[in-house]
Amino acid sequence: MPIITSPQEFNVDDLYVDLRHVIESPLYLKCEGFNFAGSVKLKAAAAMVEAAERDGALTPDSIIVESSSGNLGIALSLIAASRGLRFVCVTDPRCNPASMRVMRALGAEVRVVSDRDANGGYLGGRIDYVRNLCASGDGYVWLNQYANRNNWLAHYRGTAPAIDREFPDLEVLFVGAGTTGTLMGCARYFREHRRPVTVVAVDAVGSVTFGGLPERRMVPGLGTSSKPDMVDESFIDDVVHVPETDTIRTVHALASRGFLFGGSTGTVVSGAARWLEAKYPGEDPVAVAIAPDLGERYLDSIYEENWLREHFGDPAAILGD
Ligand code: PMP
Repeated sequence: MPIITSPQEFNVDDLYVDLRHVIESPLYLKCEGFNFAGSVKLKAAAAMVEAAERDGALTPDSIIVESSSGNLGIALSLIAASRGLRFVCVTDPRCNPASMRVMRALGAEVRVVSDRDANGGYLGGRIDYVRNLCASGDGYVWLNQYANRNNWLAHYRGTAPAIDREFPDLEVLFVGAGTTGTLMGCARYFREHRRPVTVVAVDAVGSVTFGGLPERRMVPGLGTSSKPDMVDESFIDDVVHVPETDTIRTVHALASRGFLFGGSTGTVVSGAARWLEAKYPGEDPVAVAIAPDLGERYLDSIYEENWLREHFGDPAAILGD
């Protein structure tokens, strides 16, 4: 029986769904949504705050500031609250209102920046806003999840060894790429431990991380409009780009079997299923994909008929009747 005194102490790290029995794909899905932050970002948030405290950058008078589309913001809100620190989350109009409400409920301040950058995304504007706050001299400390090595180290030390323990004969690992913290941490772990695991990055069509052209993206979490500093493609064996309509179709297929996951899980599962069909047709390799969060935060977007109609056209055309 886990008994805890701070919210980051509890994190389910050993729960997998066998998708053979759900969508007939030879894939184990690691569920990262079962902690008080509801996502994979709890580990990165805890590691970045603890490191900043250790090296003296963060003091009890500091104000943590971070650019986040939702899950890191929620995780930092929770950690800041548990340590009595202030936190300002800089986000954009694509961040879902439910996530902003969670952050505010945890005592964070949320600022929405709506300037688009040269690639049509919001990331550039968010980062400029954060830089200006830090330049104000008011004690803001930017953790910078896109470049902070503690982001990927959290997964190098936590997520990857947890998978390694459960699947000592792992052959393929699929990881979605946002900041690429989860991806780089896992990829470095398996490479540096000389484990013959094929690590496949899964990204959204329209993301520039692996050299694609920028395009409009509506599903939050994965993909970026400027390449994260920590990406090192030499650790990654392959990349799959998934169109958002496939993401939507896949999360709805999972929900129709009782598994309500977030949008990026649809992207990762869709990309993984397609990659496995192409590379291991009719075979059954030991393959794991990481599901970053659960679906309740997205009831007003990917699970909402009018939202689907507005952004993707007739839902029946995507999802079938
Ligand atoms: N999926 C969701 C829902 C997320 O919030 C994130 C984090 N932005 C990711 C995937 C990607 O994780 P990472 O930042 O470690 O690449």
